[in-house]
Amino acid sequence: MTAPIVIIGSGFAAYQLIKNIRRQDSTVAIQVFTADDGDEYNKPDLSHVFSKQQDADALILLSGADFAAQYQVELLANTPVERVDTQAQCLYANGDSYAYSKLVFATGASAFIPPVKGDCAAKIVTLNSLSEYRRSQLEIKQADRILIMGGGLIGVELAMDLQTSGKEVIVVEPNSRLLANVAPDFVSLKLEQPLRDGGMTLELNDYVTTIESFAAEQAFVVSTKAGKVFDVDCVISAAGLRPNTLLALQAGIEVKHGIVVDAQLKTSANNVYALGDCAEINGRVMAYLQPIILSANALAKQLLGQLSQLSFPPMMVKVKTPTYPIQVGGRFNTDSSWRVAFDKHGVTAEAFDDQNNMTGFVVTDENAKQAFSLLRKMSAR
Ligand SMILES: Cc1cc2nc3c(=O)[nH]c(=O)nc-3n(C[C@H](O)[C@H](O)[C@H](O)COP(=O)(O)OP(=O)(O)OC[C@H]3O[C@@H](n4cnc5c(N)ncnc54)[C@H](O)[C@@H]3O)c2cc1C
Repeated sequence: MTAPIVIIGSGFAAYQLIKNIRRQDSTVAIQVFTADDGDEYNKPDLSHVFSKQQDADALILLSGADFAAQYQVELLANTPVERVDTQAQCLYANGDSYAYSKLVFATGASAFIPPVKGDCAAKIVTLNSLSEYRRSQLEIKQADRILIMGGGLIGVELAMDLQTSGKEVIVVEPNSRLLANVAPDFVSLKLEQPLRDGGMTLELNDYVTTIESFAAEQAFVVSTKAGKVFDVDCVISAAGLRPNTLLALQAGIEVKHGIVVDAQLKTSANNVYALGDCAEINGRVMAYLQPIILSANALAKQLLGQLSQLSFPPMMVKVKTPTYPIQVGGRFNTDSSWRVAFDKHGVTAEAFDDQNNMTGFVVTDENAKQAFSLLRKMSAR
């Protein structure tokens, strides 16, 4: 009997891949190993659970068992894979070994927690998965004052949502501005003022050094490098992600920042592939949905024996900040030159490289509606 296609992980990448395979082939055997429950959910929804007053269960689209039945896969939930042997083409979990014909790493990424001192450092909360939210939802619900470490995309979305839900929010960000890796400074500055006006504390150019217990209360005293002290009820780290690569690394598979794959999503080992937040494609880890959708489509073909070559068109990311919508497209960096228009409908900014080619854009507020036409304009060049 031929060994199944084995997928490690049950996040968006794994489940998107399975849906693509099943669209074309209803019989090939698929086995899924996951460290969590295997429930299907939409991770970006975690950005607005507080304002919508949703608990973790409310985010489940399909239970793991229902997903497995609907897509005819064998799901081994709560079964972390401990080791992969790429020579013998098998993996080890639960004390058993399981053979694979093709193996896919869809192991995602883990929330990074910067090193912090103090007796409550271990109480920092992360929100990079449904299970992390489930573990901390009561603590967050009961908290009046919440400190978020990190003012990037996820930190800002969480901060705004928590503020909307009535919490007092403090964001501590080492950069001199919010969204430093996502948007140009003139957009960050436009975002920061209304947040401050709404009562949010933005502690920029600073980082948390110590989290200590607050005498006799279920609260924390958070100290920063710049000498600020905040009394809060909860601390959330939104300080970035680290691809989950250890399993691949231990199996001798090439890993740089993520698990290195080529344009066929192949790793350095025979019959082993990777996609999603754990994968590094063309030197980049792209931890968002659009590249995963394109990767899953290409990989499904590849696994079913068809030729496929992954290439990415210019892509967009929406910053889910409802009172100040921001849509970012393509690519830009500190060397980009900008053509910027501010009007009563928001910002429209186009980024150009040194050859005067348009490489990216940012649109805000009502001008966010122009995102698709700008994307077309850029793609047409
Ligand atoms: C709050 C938030 C908001 C976001 N908003 C957006 C957005 O608006 N737009 C957008 O494009 N992207 C957004 N993203 C990013 C997007 O959600 C992720 O890129 C995507 O969900 C990653 O999917 P994944 O399957 O690669 O990883 P994950 O969802 O992390 O799944 C990894 C899976 O691997 C399993 N696993 C790991 N190690 C093992 C092991 N050893 N054995 C077995 N199983 C293992 C885990 O249990 C899990 O099931 C957001 C992310 C967050 C946290």
